[in-house]
Amino acid sequence: ASIFAKVEMAPRDPILGLNEGFAADTRAEKVNLGVGVYYDDNGKIPLLAAVRQAEKARLEAAPARGYQPIEGPAAYNAAVQNLLFGAGHDLIAAGKVVTAEALGGTGALKIGADFLKQLNPDATVYISDPSWENHRALFQNAGFKVENYPYYDAATRGVDFAAMKASLLGLPAGAIVVLHACCHNPTGADLSESQWGDVVEACRERGLVPFLDIAYQGFADGIEPDAVAVRLFGNSGLQFFVSSSFSKSFSLYGERVGALSIITDGKDESARVLSQLKRVIRTNYSNPPIHGGAIVAAVLNSPELRKMWEDELAGMRDRIREMRSSLVDKLAAEGATQDFSFVTAQRGMFSYTGLTVAQVDALRDDYGIYAVSTGRICLAALNTRNIDYVAKAIAAVTR
Ligand code: PMP
Repeated sequence: ASIFAKVEMAPRDPILGLNEGFAADTRAEKVNLGVGVYYDDNGKIPLLAAVRQAEKARLEAAPARGYQPIEGPAAYNAAVQNLLFGAGHDLIAAGKVVTAEALGGTGALKIGADFLKQLNPDATVYISDPSWENHRALFQNAGFKVENYPYYDAATRGVDFAAMKASLLGLPAGAIVVLHACCHNPTGADLSESQWGDVVEACRERGLVPFLDIAYQGFADGIEPDAVAVRLFGNSGLQFFVSSSFSKSFSLYGERVGALSIITDGKDESARVLSQLKRVIRTNYSNPPIHGGAIVAAVLNSPELRKMWEDELAGMRDRIREMRSSLVDKLAAEGATQDFSFVTAQRGMFSYTGLTVAQVDALRDDYGIYAVSTGRICLAALNTRNIDYVAKAIAAVTR
């Protein structure tokens, strides 16, 4: 018998399944709002000019392709730290930040999870309800029990912060709490600065282990304001983990560029933590690939390219916001019976629209518009050519 005879078919990834359905749809006016990728107004994934320039320079320099350090190059890791905490932050100067390049935000979560499993194998991981669909499986595969904390409030289309805070204040010491630092995926509902302050204090009071996931820095209000949660934790004196990603902010999805940063209590601890983190990485994939990280480091460490990148990032952010307000206006103009103004208050790439499963099905069957069954849509998939059609369709199916 085959050694694979007992292997069962794994459940289909809900979003990839949606993409397959979209690809097979022959209707010309079809729109895919299910994706988690930024498209420009032409419906294309942009290749940023700053990235192109850095790539050109690298190609001309024709560097050799030796192995990288296990934790990635120092210039990249320093650039990550500066972006997260602000250049010259006390934590960095004191040697309290350990950073390792990782294979995207996902890879950062994974090496963080594997390291945490060694530290505290019996801890439970808490993720928001709902959360990015990979959080649960990723921490479960690392061997953890995963539970939810309350987050989204369908009635207000915002955060039920009272319930979230009460839940955090009831967690046992050592519990690992995964927090979306900005642009919550999938809901688009974020905490205010003062609510983040309360979360920091809840973590302190209960002795929790915060794991901040920041995959969209620069997509809500800007690079600095979007780091508010990271900065509050950074100034709190607490120890915590941060997974960060350049997939969206540099439009480098397939290059797999991210990082894990861990806050320790000092240089000596940092050296020990890094040594263990390197073992985790070494036994997974040995060391990170060169290209993506080299491009990001070249851009962030050159004042000219960095300025170019910040402008391009602002362009992406502004376009998403325009699509938000334009969708709200057009829905009203189409005579939508619901008030969709909450869409402009939600942040980042996504909105939880409140569309029901039946309404999502009707969008797909009647209009060739694909959304996630939870009602999540990607605002960055809207553009000046498809937004009228989408607004008309949403107004119709919600009437
Ligand atoms: N965390 C969250 C909240 C995300 O939305 C994503 C990407 N969709 C990731 C992590 C993973 O990012 P990457 O593609 O860089 O692995």
